[in-house]
Amino acid sequence: MATGGTAATTDDADHDDPADHDDPADHDDPAGPFRRELVTWLQSHLSPEVVAAGRVGEGGDDDFEVLRRWNATLADGGWAAPAWPSAYHGRDATVAEQLAWHEEMAAADAPGPVNVIGVSNIAPAIMAMGTDEQRRRFLWPMLRGDEIWSQGMSEPDAGSDLASLRTSAVLDGDHFVVNGQKTWNSLGRLADWCQLYVRTDPDAPKHRGISCLLVDMATPGVDVRPLRTMAGDHTFSELFFADVRVPRDCLLGPLHQGWRVAMTTLSHERAGVARLHLWMTERLESLLADLRGRPVLADPLVRSRVAALYERIACMRWSTTRELEAVGLGRQPSPGSGSLTKLMWSRIDQDLAELAVDVLGLEGLTGRWAKLLASSRQATIAGGTTEINRNIVAEQALGLPR
Ligand SMILES: Cc1cc2nc3c(=O)[nH]c(=O)nc-3n(C[C@H](O)[C@H](O)[C@H](O)COP(=O)(O)OP(=O)(O)OC[C@H]3O[C@@H](n4cnc5c(N)ncnc54)[C@H](O)[C@@H]3O)c2cc1C
Repeated sequence: MATGGTAATTDDADHDDPADHDDPADHDDPAGPFRRELVTWLQSHLSPEVVAAGRVGEGGDDDFEVLRRWNATLADGGWAAPAWPSAYHGRDATVAEQLAWHEEMAAADAPGPVNVIGVSNIAPAIMAMGTDEQRRRFLWPMLRGDEIWSQGMSEPDAGSDLASLRTSAVLDGDHFVVNGQKTWNSLGRLADWCQLYVRTDPDAPKHRGISCLLVDMATPGVDVRPLRTMAGDHTFSELFFADVRVPRDCLLGPLHQGWRVAMTTLSHERAGVARLHLWMTERLESLLADLRGRPVLADPLVRSRVAALYERIACMRWSTTRELEAVGLGRQPSPGSGSLTKLMWSRIDQDLAELAVDVLGLEGLTGRWAKLLASSRQATIAGGTTEINRNIVAEQALGLPR
């Protein structure tokens, strides 16, 4: 391993005992004690400074350190990733409890972990395919946000078709030597580590010659160049690798099995999709608050657009709840349901920002809503483009030919 690390214990987690409470409302809410414990904890730990730093569209670079400290507070309290197994400082939260976590965090305006790519995407792969040493070394600093992680998949010529990636890694003794370029690397400018997908067997069919490396971004030869988006921030970067030596024990999963690692997306966090309709509900409420008392709100066309968005968010909530209930009962999610939710969310996100800018006039073209409009363009690209998700729904849900 490149650097040492100490896995902390959960002794410092100050959990209440939910069994201390007995509330008749729990008959309707299987997550009742969990929910109350979280609400009590948030009341005593969440500060207005953290809420302000986490407000989407308002936060600047300076807020990152506030959110990073909040991430550590969440982890120390046992609330950063309740869906993680307790063996890794989670709470083994049920689907109902995960949903309650999202609802109460949203209701309190509490930001989640700033190290979100690590916690939601990379950690499940390390838990499932990592060595004991990798789990011990990486999971706790990741959960606290002490070490920020990014995911290096996309390249200038490999996005939707990820298996075309060309960044190479050649074994040289007990190190891999990495050369190539990645792009659209979220959190890249701030990341201490990168989960990097590289080609280790150029002669194998393209899905079979890929491996996954855990790369310390302080290694000589790594060059991070932030990209400025039209929303004015540096949310992602280009990464360049020139003869970067990565210790062999930083290989995640077996050699040439990186595609399997990439497909290990079966997160412990089943209720993550709930975040999306909660975000959209919060954003619509925020727009209505900004419009309160303005004559434009009496305009039938504006009212009809608001109502249509309200209906679409409600449909998203119902379909998410139906899926989560099925998963809670031990069934598989419906084919293509993740893609459908993503499709619904990405269009609502864009339409809502467009409505705000339309009705707020000049005021909408500056400040928070203008930034949200600019950043909403990424919704139909990140995490699988609209076309790719439509293909998935067509094939998996509707059974149409490729
Ligand atoms: C906000 C944001 C954050 C991101 N973060 C990361 C990150 O952290 N790490 C990372 O590795 N990547 C990241 N990405 C990159 C993202 O994964 C890619 O942008 C995405 O996979 C699309 O790839 P591409 O941009 O190369 O477009 P392409 O794949 O080149 O697609 C171009 C166009 O062709 C269409 N298209 C492509 N293939 C098909 C097909 N088979 N059928 C129909 N239409 C098709 C697409 O829908 C799109 O409209 C991020 C992107 C964004 C916007």
